[in-house]
Amino acid sequence: MTAGADVVVVGAGIIGSSISYQLARRRIGVIAVDKGEGPAEGSTGASSSICRCRYTNPEVVRLAFYGQKALGDSSRFTGLAETIAHLHRVGEILMTGETREKVERDAARLLAQGVDAETLGPEDVTRLFPAVSNCAEPLDMSGDVDHVCRPGEAFLYEPGGGYADPVGANQDLIEAARARGGDVRFKSQVVDVLREGERVTGVKLADGTSISAGLVINAAGPWCNVLNSIAGADIRWTLTPTRIQTVYRPWPESLGQLPIGLDVTTGTYFRPESAGQQIMVGSVTAEDEQEIIADPDNFKRVPDADFTQLKLAAFHHRIPSLEPRGQVTGIAGLYTINREDVHPIVGPSGVDGFWVANGFSGHGFKLAPAIGSMVAQAISGERIEFDTDIPIDFFSVDREPIDVSVKSVLA
Ligand SMILES: Cc1cc2nc3c(=O)[nH]c(=O)nc-3n(C[C@H](O)[C@H](O)[C@H](O)COP(=O)(O)OP(=O)(O)OC[C@H]3O[C@@H](n4cnc5c(N)ncnc54)[C@H](O)[C@@H]3O)c2cc1C
Repeated sequence: MTAGADVVVVGAGIIGSSISYQLARRRIGVIAVDKGEGPAEGSTGASSSICRCRYTNPEVVRLAFYGQKALGDSSRFTGLAETIAHLHRVGEILMTGETREKVERDAARLLAQGVDAETLGPEDVTRLFPAVSNCAEPLDMSGDVDHVCRPGEAFLYEPGGGYADPVGANQDLIEAARARGGDVRFKSQVVDVLREGERVTGVKLADGTSISAGLVINAAGPWCNVLNSIAGADIRWTLTPTRIQTVYRPWPESLGQLPIGLDVTTGTYFRPESAGQQIMVGSVTAEDEQEIIADPDNFKRVPDADFTQLKLAAFHHRIPSLEPRGQVTGIAGLYTINREDVHPIVGPSGVDGFWVANGFSGHGFKLAPAIGSMVAQAISGERIEFDTDIPIDFFSVDREPIDVSVKSVLA
C-alpha cells in the first residue's frame, strides 16, 4: 500500500484533471491515476473542444458559460504564468432554418444567463463571413431531391464562442493541479477497488501497489462502466462508448476567417483548426451518434469514406466558393453517451466512498471547468473564484432525466 490521499481520481482526462485541480486548489490531498502514457489519450485527445452555450436547459447554459470564462482567462483560472491552451473566440453561428421569433427567443434565453448572444439576419451572415452561404433550406444528402438555396430568416450568433487545444487544456490542468500539490500519475491502471465492509477505501493498480483514500472518483471516460462494475456501483443510466468521426481539410486564407458553425440544416458542424489553416468538420445528427463500441481500447480511429464524403459535400454547400482540393484527413474518438438524457452523472454513486463523473456525451470539454468546481465544492463546502453556482445535485445519479429538445450533441 502506498501512502494514501484524501481522494483518488481515476482518469486524468479533461474531467479527472479538472476535478484534481479544483481539489488541489482547496488543499485537499488528491492523487489522480491514469492508465495512459500521458495526457489526453482518451476522449479528450480527439475532442473538437468547441465551447458554446446554447443548450435547452438554463443550468447547462450557465455551466457551459463558466467553462468558457475559465478557458477564456486560462492563466488566471489555472494560476499558471503561461498556459498551453487558449480559447480562440472566433464566434459561433447556429444555422437551424428556424423563424426569427424562435431565434430571438433563444438569444433572450442566453442573454438571461449572461451569455452574449445576437440574432443575425441573412445579410449579417454575408457581411461578417462572406464565404459562408446563408442558405437555410435543408440539404437532402441522398441526392434525390433538387436543392434550391433559400436564405434563412435568422441565425443565432454567440460572439464569445470558441475552441481550445484539448490536449493543451488537459496538460494545463494537470500542471495546475501539480503546482498546488496534487499528484497526477500516468501508466497507473486501476484494476480493483478496495473495500472495508461496504465502504470503498482505495484502489489497486496493475503493478500490484494500492493507494488508500477516503473517496474514489470514477473519471474514466469511456472506460467508466468497467470501473463502476468493479466497484459494485449499480448505475441505472445507460452510458455507451460511442464512435464519433471528424474530418479535416485545408482552408484557403483567401476565404477569410471562419467562425464555428453548427449547421443543422446540413447535419454538420465546422470549426477552424491549426491556426485557421485547416477546417474540422463533424456531425450534429443523432444518427451519427449510434456506433456503440464494446471495447474503448479497440475501435477504428479514422473516419469512414462515406462519412467523409457526405460531410465534405455538406460543407461545400455551406461554403460554395471552396474548391475541392487538398489532402483530407480525420480522426475518430469516443463520446460516452448517456442515452437517457445526454447529460453526465456526477456525485455519489450509491456505494459509500465511491463517486462518478461519467457520461459527458458530446459536451464534456466545455463543461469540465464547472464539473471540477461542482465536485470540489461538494467535497469541501468551499466556494472560490471561478466556481459555478449550479449544485452537484443537478447531475446527481438519483435525478430524473433532464428534459432536452433533442438527444444529440445539440441537446
Ligand atoms: C470527436 C469528439 C468531438 C468532441 N467535441 C466536443 C466539443 O466540441 N465540445 C465539448 O465540450 N466536448 C466535445 N467532446 C466531448 C469531450 O471531449 C468529452 O466529453 C471529454 O473529453 C471526456 O473527458 P473524460 O475526462 O471524461 O474522458 P477521457 O478523456 O477519455 O479520460 C478518461 C481517462 O481515464 C483513463 N482511464 C480509464 N480507465 C482507467 C483505469 N482503469 N485506470 C486508470 N485510468 C483509466 C483513460 O486513460 C483516460 O485518460 C468531443 C468528443 C469527441 C470524441
